[in-house]
Parts: sequence; structure tokens; C-alpha cells
Amino acid sequence: MRIEQLRHRLTSLGANPEHARHVLRRWAQARPQQSSRRRIEHYLPQALRDALPGLVEELAGLARLRSRHAGADGSERLLVDLADGQSVESVLLPGGGLCVSSQVGCAVGCVFCMTGQGGLVRQLGSAEIVAQLALARTLRGPNTVRKVVLMGMGEPAHNLDNVMEAIELMGCEGAIGHKNIVFSTVGDERAFERLLALRGGQVRPALALSLHSTRADLRAQLLPRAPRVAPHDLVALAERYARQTGYPVQYQWALMAGVNDGDDEVEGIAALLAGKYALMNLIPYNRVDGLAFERPSAERAAAMARALQRRGVLTKLRQSAGQDVEAGCGQLRARAMAQGSRAIPITIPIPIVSATR
Ligand code: SF4
Repeated sequence: MRIEQLRHRLTSLGANPEHARHVLRRWAQARPQQSSRRRIEHYLPQALRDALPGLVEELAGLARLRSRHAGADGSERLLVDLADGQSVESVLLPGGGLCVSSQVGCAVGCVFCMTGQGGLVRQLGSAEIVAQLALARTLRGPNTVRKVVLMGMGEPAHNLDNVMEAIELMGCEGAIGHKNIVFSTVGDERAFERLLALRGGQVRPALALSLHSTRADLRAQLLPRAPRVAPHDLVALAERYARQTGYPVQYQWALMAGVNDGDDEVEGIAALLAGKYALMNLIPYNRVDGLAFERPSAERAAAMARALQRRGVLTKLRQSAGQDVEAGCGQLRARAMAQGSRAIPITIPIPIVSATR
């Protein structure tokens, strides 16, 4: 379901724009539609009030909790069922963050991510993206989620219309500050243009860019169906966005032993990012059964972070959230599918991010 369709339905039930905002705000914030300050009997039109219980149930059905898995670090992985029987993962992060999925599966085909092997199953509708936020707040409380990162299953730039609608609703009615919404992408020129134009420039999410290599040839091997934009040009696009929004770009780097942890990459990152409005997140790779990539030693990862800092690149060495409960986003889903309850194509995304990315 698209949020736009939802607005049309509300209008057909007699809602004016303020009524529609009320319904959407209460849903996205996981608050009851009936508020003690303003009784809906005195406010919403009769047709809308009559339809509201059914609509609330329908919205709750967009994202239902299938299972939850707490990590020792305070994160919690949620396996979420969608109305058509597909499922995605969301991750509650320590400190009030939530990582949401934007697609079932992913078409980018990153060779270190099992989603890359399974491909795209389907897009998420904008309402399904917001429904993950509503579900997380229902579980933890309305005021608990204050940041949303689009770093779960899927490439947001491949589902731009739905992702932009969801960002707009979360930023305008969902009580998530604009800079606390993070659009994460492998890099796509259309995405930068759309982000700058969101609501005439009124909604400005922060940007995370999955770089993984400064060498165009290696990056093309690692991310085979990402747009062919040279790393230098990607950084230029991201820098322009960062300067216009006032938030630094978060570069994401899944650190893989013998692949992209060498001194050549340290030099390449320094050449690209020194002096830029940027933060480099080095994320040691989580091993995945069936894939040949390994994480480097802790010493090597720390040395790389120190070398980048010395060269003027603000760098953080990060760990995936919830490593003790299937670290890669998508592993819970894969396990649930493998246990055979449903005939759904199996995709096993390991976003570099979220939790990882
Ligand atoms: S790492 Fe992210 S962009 Fe790449 S295939 Fe996996 S989900 Fe898609």
C-alpha cells in the first residue's frame, strides 16, 4: 500500500488534509487514534470514524511481528511478516535507532551479501516502510524510536517513489527529525536529485553511501549491478548533498580481509575524503555461510582506522548490532524460510549496514 492511496481513501471518507494528518500521525507514532485532548467524536467526520477501526486493523496488518531476537548489545532484531506472506527484517538499535527494510530482497547483487544471490523479490510500498516504524514503536513505546536508517534489506534508490513518500511521512508526521532519517545507497544520481527536491527541499534526510572500495574496477566486482559511477564522482555528488543539507555523509565500508583492507585503499580513501564533510564507518565483515569473504583481524581493522585518522579522515570502527543473533540483516528471515513454513523465494541479505551498514 502507498501512503498516497491511503490519503485518497481518507479523503473519500470525508477527511480534510488536517484529518488525514491526524490519522497518519497517530499511526506512525503508534498512538491511539482517540486522544484524550481532542475527542474524535468532536473532530473527525462520521464516515471516517465508522471506517477507522477497520483501517487501524489494516494498517497493523501491513507489518506484523513474527519473532524478536534480543542481542547482548541492546539491539533487537525483528522478523516482520507483511500482508502477502513475505517477510523482512527491522532492527532496533541501541540508543533509539531503527533500521528498516525498503525491499524484499535486492537487485544490486553485492557478492559479499547473500541477498545479492537471491535478487529482488518485490518492492515495499511506502506504507509498509512506515509500518515497520509503527510496529517498533508499538513494541517499545511511542517515544522510543527517534532515528530511522534505511539500511535493512534492499537498495532504497531502487524504490525511490515509495522511499521518498515514507521519508516525507516519517519526517513530517512521524516525529523523526530530518537529520535522524538516514537514506543509505550504493549511489545513484537520480537519488541525489530526488533527495534535494523532497517536499521542495523542506525534508532533508542524512545520507549514507556504501563505498567499499576506492577502485572503480574492484567496486564494480563487489557491487555488480550498482550504477557505474566512479568513486570520485560519487564522492563529489555526496559532498554536494552534504554541503546543502549541513549533515556529513556517512561512508560505509564492509571491511573484508585481503579484499579492501590494504594500504592502497587507505591511500585511496585519504585521497577521496580528506577535507570532505564526511565520516568513514569501517565495519568488519560478518562471515556468511557459503560466501568466501572473511573479516580482517581486529588489529588490522584498528590499524586501518588509525591510519585514516592520521590522514585527516574522520573514521569510526563499528561493529554490527546483535552479532549474537544472526548478525547480517536477512539471516533471521533466511532461517525462518529454511525451516520451511512458506513457499517464498529465499533471499538472504546481509546488508553491510544497519546494524551493519
Ligand atoms: S549489501 Fe545492500 S545493496 Fe548490496 S545486495 Fe545486499 S542489500 Fe543490496
